[in-house]
Amino acid sequence: MAKMKVDNVILPSHGSEKTFDVTITDNIVTSVRPSSAPHHCPSLLLPSLCHPHLHLDKAYLLTSNNPTYAHLAPKTGTFSEALTTTAQAKSLYTEDDLYLRGAQLLSTIYTQGATSARTFVEVDATTGTLPLTVARRLKREFAHLIEIQIVAFAQEPLFSKDDGEANRLVLEGVLASEAAADISVLGTTPYVEVDEHAMSENIHWAIETAIDKCLHLDFHLDYNLKPTGINQGQVMPWAFNVVTFLLTADWNTMNKDKTVVLGHCTQLSHANPRNLRHAAHRIRTHNLPIHFVGLPTSDLFMMGRDHYPKPRGTLPVMDFIREPYCLNACLGVNNVGNAFTPYGTGDPLTLASWGVGIYQAGTEKDAETLYGCVSWRARKAIGLASEQDEKEREETDVVEGMRWKPMLLVENKGAVEVPGPGSGDGVSGVMAFPARQRVSIRDVVWDPPEVNLRKVIR
Ligand SMILES: [Zn+2]
Repeated sequence: MAKMKVDNVILPSHGSEKTFDVTITDNIVTSVRPSSAPHHCPSLLLPSLCHPHLHLDKAYLLTSNNPTYAHLAPKTGTFSEALTTTAQAKSLYTEDDLYLRGAQLLSTIYTQGATSARTFVEVDATTGTLPLTVARRLKREFAHLIEIQIVAFAQEPLFSKDDGEANRLVLEGVLASEAAADISVLGTTPYVEVDEHAMSENIHWAIETAIDKCLHLDFHLDYNLKPTGINQGQVMPWAFNVVTFLLTADWNTMNKDKTVVLGHCTQLSHANPRNLRHAAHRIRTHNLPIHFVGLPTSDLFMMGRDHYPKPRGTLPVMDFIREPYCLNACLGVNNVGNAFTPYGTGDPLTLASWGVGIYQAGTEKDAETLYGCVSWRARKAIGLASEQDEKEREETDVVEGMRWKPMLLVENKGAVEVPGPGSGDGVSGVMAFPARQRVSIRDVVWDPPEVNLRKVIR
């Protein structure tokens, strides 16, 4: 019988004042009792973090300082340059390099508190199946720490340009091979196709193929800030068409329990509210499992460069979640250390914290929603949530009888210490002050704890 105790923890659903001792026996919570010996700096016990959108094979292309990629550092920093140089990098991948960067990324996200991740792995005529082979190895080797979903992902065109057909054949080959056992999602990038016709073909093909292979679906969509409409210089967001296409394909019957994720969708930041309300109403009425994933750190870096004043736009995640839209939405980091997003550590909690400013979401309830966006809302988007994960409040609860799932423990230090006056040269005086305590989700979102204060409890 495997028994584990987690003592002196604050459970956010019970407020910040009380602390509890939790006992887990054979993976079931067998007791939640008020702490027998309360401690003056208790820890917080929270649902663990989830990455709904993370590129595995192109992580750290810039920040690994691997000389192979040195010549691909951004010169202009444009979106098209990032697409070109990253495509060039793909032809230089080696198994060892893919494995090292992938392992570095997965180790890092685990130390940050993530226990599940949807990872995008490119499959096309340039890169072949090598990144997928390495991703499958990483999925197995990290299985005890992180539940890894692999997306067979087309970053390149499938229905236009010279190698569209070749790319599609490689992807179809992979989905028909034994590697398919490790693939749970199909992902494409309709915006890289040359025209609307090819974009439409890309989306239709992806929906049909996902249904045929029983896969979740994930589109990089509407990645622009163009005015919405049907006049000259305007474009209608594809997200609205996807709703129609899914209904026509009878997605809910044909691909039961598989979700459809729409990533980026920056153009929706200035969609006509009436059109958006209409689309949201259709999604809700037909119970379509569509989830929007905002990727603000990439979007703000990439979008709106060629204008002054510079337009700024990223999917309005918090507005989408609230009335009148009431849509499913969450947050992802997309890229780490490459030309699409050279900066940042990929920490989901930092992302949630940025959300306070980006979405002007300053209330305590907002902070809880933002935490959900990098935890239970993200898990739901990628199809990992169970029935009991439905209600937001209950997500943070730990009750007797429930199955234990990995949780994130945020520790508090008693004191903050700095060198005292005249210390050094053999003198070791310190100045010590009581440390601020994080006692609620709000505290963790507003001021994310250092990684060494986070621990995944399995
Ligand atoms: Zn992406």
